[in-house]
Amino acid sequence: MTIRNVCDLKGVGLKRGQQLGRLGIETTEDLILYFPRKYQDRRTVTPLDRLETGNKALVKARVLAVDKSGLYGKWGKKRLKLTVTDDTGLLEIVFFNGQYIAKNIHADEEYYFYGEISTFGSSLQMVHPEFTKEDIIGILPIYPLTAGLSQAFMRNIVKEALAVSLPLDDYMPKEVIRESGLVSLDEAVKNIHFPEDEKDIEKATKRLIYDEMYILQLGLSMMKSRSGGTGVMMTANADPYIESLEFPFTGAQKRVWKEISEDMDSARHMNRLLQGDVGSGKTVIAETAMFKAVKSGYQAVLMAPTEILAAQHHQGIEKKFRKFGINTVLLGGRLSAAERADTLENIRTGEARCIIGTHAVLQPSVEYENVGLVITDEQHRFGVDQRVQLFAKGNNPDILTMTATPIPRTLAVVYFGDMDVSELDEMPPGRQKILTKAVTEKSRSQVYRFVEEEIAKGRQIYVVCPLIEGSDEIPVRSAQEVYDELSGRLPAVGLLHGAMNGEEKSEVMSAFAANEIKVLVSTVVIEVGINVPNATVMVVENAERFGLAQLHQLRGRVGRGREQSYCLLILGSTGEIAVERARTMVESTDGFYIAERDLALRGPGEIFGNRQHGLPDLRLADISKNIDLVKPIQKQIASGYVNEELLRRVKKLFGENGELKL
Ligand code: ADP
Ligand code: MG
Repeated sequence: MTIRNVCDLKGVGLKRGQQLGRLGIETTEDLILYFPRKYQDRRTVTPLDRLETGNKALVKARVLAVDKSGLYGKWGKKRLKLTVTDDTGLLEIVFFNGQYIAKNIHADEEYYFYGEISTFGSSLQMVHPEFTKEDIIGILPIYPLTAGLSQAFMRNIVKEALAVSLPLDDYMPKEVIRESGLVSLDEAVKNIHFPEDEKDIEKATKRLIYDEMYILQLGLSMMKSRSGGTGVMMTANADPYIESLEFPFTGAQKRVWKEISEDMDSARHMNRLLQGDVGSGKTVIAETAMFKAVKSGYQAVLMAPTEILAAQHHQGIEKKFRKFGINTVLLGGRLSAAERADTLENIRTGEARCIIGTHAVLQPSVEYENVGLVITDEQHRFGVDQRVQLFAKGNNPDILTMTATPIPRTLAVVYFGDMDVSELDEMPPGRQKILTKAVTEKSRSQVYRFVEEEIAKGRQIYVVCPLIEGSDEIPVRSAQEVYDELSGRLPAVGLLHGAMNGEEKSEVMSAFAANEIKVLVSTVVIEVGINVPNATVMVVENAERFGLAQLHQLRGRVGRGREQSYCLLILGSTGEIAVERARTMVESTDGFYIAERDLALRGPGEIFGNRQHGLPDLRLADISKNIDLVKPIQKQIASGYVNEELLRRVKKLFGENGELKL
């Protein structure tokens, strides 16, 4: 294949070249890989007496009359109205503000018009149709364009580019093409632009999506293997710590710990995702890994998503580690200047072995002696470059990323494609099943009675609301409202929400942890990681406004102690999805199952809408929709179906993305 600059094409001068440049098109290769956004079916010309309102149609008609006199709008803009006919009927064509169009349309001449049919009074009309004099019958590509470029221009230069580029060297190994039933690259590229029928589009799309997914997977697998060899070896034995725990590891913890400790033992760089439901025992695994790192002579860093959680982790871990002579520090926002300076100094000299904090631990002002392990959460997922730079002075530390919102494995493998995935899919024994009930407004007084009984037994309650304050637009019960109401009838009610500052929040949380607050009314700020074993009831107001993953997270706040715990979902509306979600919650407490249901209910696109995945943009493929291609592709890559041209394309795809440069 010869690749030329687009400016070498007929009809592309400096200006057009610049406009194309804005679309990221510089070469003929870019051009033929610039795929249509959609197609227009112009295979059939519809006679005017067969037009149907609401449909798009192509008509071929002669202009009977041109009326430029119409005005519309406040400022009296000009309207251009044509009456056209094909001898079966009449149609009005309207262009608002259409003086410039009048120059190109003349009475008595025949044109093709393509557009949507609407009714205006008693006549049929087409507003702002595309029109042309040329005979274009067929399926037309419609490209995403920038100002100044027309579809007709694009079609022409794409045709030209195809003419100079075909035949293409098909980089896809023959085995892959055969195994997966793909069409040739030539056929795919030609037909994605100029298909003869739907089948062509389908086959071309299938092939090109396959290519994109293949190239993506190849890149991800290279990133995984590339990080090998540069890691840290941390071979100290963690058994003393595991034996010091009050419980044996679950089967899942044993399996996961084996995976992690093998990574740490080896010189291979660890970049591992640990998925597990709230309460599945991730924190204990994290502690064990930190123990191993510290005993191997390295510092270990634990990054928590919030100050509260960082403090909570510190409180728990510091005590356990002190027994082993490990100095654990909290790099928190509440330190005085002197304390902070002191802590920083200890981190720098290596006095501090285990460092806990929020992402503030990554500030340049924090200098480490020798970090070997960084444990973080999904929000703080690192790109490859970042990883190397973060602790630039030291090593390329092993990274363990934890997430409490498990996603189906197939999705995790792509979305966290540069990581190995471990799963804690088993709860520690003796856990009681949290009883979940979904109720409507009608049962509110029963809910309150139940809550009162639990308080009388000495238990604590969470009440979660979707909003802080009331709003006229959104008819839900706000945290403030519920707080006011409950303060009147229940003892020791507290309020916690995201608009409070860190100090206020941790005061409330400490009071709740100390059982001084019995009922904690809050927004979803408590979603992450809070641990108050004496809390046994989670009430969710307007539960219909929370997603499944979120509800599951919230429910995970209770059931952490010995007592039977409950989750009460109060539904403010009973839409189909809300009910289906509530049913899922009542049915199951397994986060992996709930994730599968969530996937089925909302589709993968939405689930990942707000997840940062940091992967390069794809053109035709949609990772979540095309997830079923991942397995066969991984197998093919593992079989060695790779070549230079594929690698060049991997570089091109990932190179455009700052975060995951190869
Ligand atoms: P996660 O971080 O996944 O939410 P944690 O590590 O905080 O879970 O564990 C939740 C609770 O279960 C903690 O109180 C912890 O001590 C306890 N736990 C963890 N692993 C086990 C186990 N194997 N057997 C019994 N209890 C366990
Ligand atoms: Mg290692």
